Amino acid sequence: MQHRLLKRQIKRFLPADFPLESIDNFVQAVNDAYISYDADYRQLERTLEVSSKESFKELSDFRYAMSISSMIVITNANGVIKYVNENYLKASGYCEGELLGHKLKDFNSSYHDQRFYDDLQKEILSGKIWKGEICDLTKEGEVYWTDTTIIPLLTNGGAPYKFITYKFDITAMKDTEQRLVEAKKSAEEALQIKSDFLSNMSHEIRTPMNAILGLTDILLQQKRDEQSTDNLNAIKHSGENLLVIINDILDFSKLEAGKVNLEQIDFNFHYQIDHARKVMVYKAEEKGLYLNVNIQDDVPKYLIGDPYRLSQILVNLIGNAIKFTPRGGVQITISAKRLDNDNHSVRFEVRDTGIGIPEDKLEGIFESFNQAHSSVERTYGGTGLGLAITSELVSLMKGKLEVESCVGEGTSFSFEIPMLSSMGVFVNESEEN
Ligand code: ADP
Repeated sequence: MQHRLLKRQIKRFLPADFPLESIDNFVQAVNDAYISYDADYRQLERTLEVSSKESFKELSDFRYAMSISSMIVITNANGVIKYVNENYLKASGYCEGELLGHKLKDFNSSYHDQRFYDDLQKEILSGKIWKGEICDLTKEGEVYWTDTTIIPLLTNGGAPYKFITYKFDITAMKDTEQRLVEAKKSAEEALQIKSDFLSNMSHEIRTPMNAILGLTDILLQQKRDEQSTDNLNAIKHSGENLLVIINDILDFSKLEAGKVNLEQIDFNFHYQIDHARKVMVYKAEEKGLYLNVNIQDDVPKYLIGDPYRLSQILVNLIGNAIKFTPRGGVQITISAKRLDNDNHSVRFEVRDTGIGIPEDKLEGIFESFNQAHSSVERTYGGTGLGLAITSELVSLMKGKLEVESCVGEGTSFSFEIPMLSSMGVFVNESEEN
């Protein structure tokens, strides 16, 4: 290709005797460079065209997917609706004409208070994305819940010029949630009614029962023939058993309703343990069993806690140990570790040489009404509430009741609870004697 114009221009700047051939070569080189640049440029254009087409396709696929799966509303900076997708129209029941040009807030339900919308508004106007659950109303006034995300699009200066709102219908999930809340509430109410009933009934039964036992005692003191005395003793024994059961039910219902509050008082720990032993020792002796107590030296004499409930725990465990031990006996060991200052960790163990508990029964042994030896249940009696009460009381004292057992060899129940030692200055000495 001859670029005459270019050649002429170049010649003007060169001496007249400059070889023409060199000028031709130079012009040819410039020409070639132009052609190759043109080719590169067209190639670049083609590449850009392809990749922007691909990007556009990707973008519209994405938009299609979003539009199918969610409701979309686009508003301008003033909250005026500029676009709604098909899903939003379907869910809200409005047609496009009733929405476009109106403010989105005109369609708010009255479920949320003004503060909720004010906070939302503040958030998105500051350019932040808002996420949350919104209760909306259809045109017919029906409630529907959406999981909503509002995305502000910002100018270079950082001011929102458009808001894109994505909503997912979560009405079904909300309904389930609501039903669960209601079910939980009615279950709690039922539990409350049950525990009120149990505690009232136990109370009502306890009063006449005490009268029966008292009167039986009076009759027993009078001189009677052997048969009547035997009968009266049987009444007394059954009455006492019934009272234990009633007390268990009362305690259990109180614990279940969270109505047991532990005392925090100074008490003579050694005296209290000895008292529990004295209460139980005659039962052990009746069966020819030993009942030994070993309080180790590191256990403080005075501790702070609930002496009545602590005794109850030990009496329950010792009672069971005696009940399920035909020969040998029961060993109670109490030890303590000083943690810091007055804080101690006190460990209790009640070990027997009894019939043991089968391994497969150990797991549920602390659940209410659970008895590991159903076949011998009649022989041993009981309600299956003792261990449930005991383990609840131990948990209230921030401990955990544990059990180890070997069938035919014996069982050990143990727990460790934090207790504060004291100087014993507030202990009522008369109680110790
Ligand atoms: P119960 O009123 O039946 O004694 P508990 O809750 O106190 O109720 O005990 C539940 C069951 O655990 C008992 O029925 C018994 O099968 C088993 N059990 C409890 N303590 C012992 C023990 N020391 N030795 C063997 N079995 C025990």
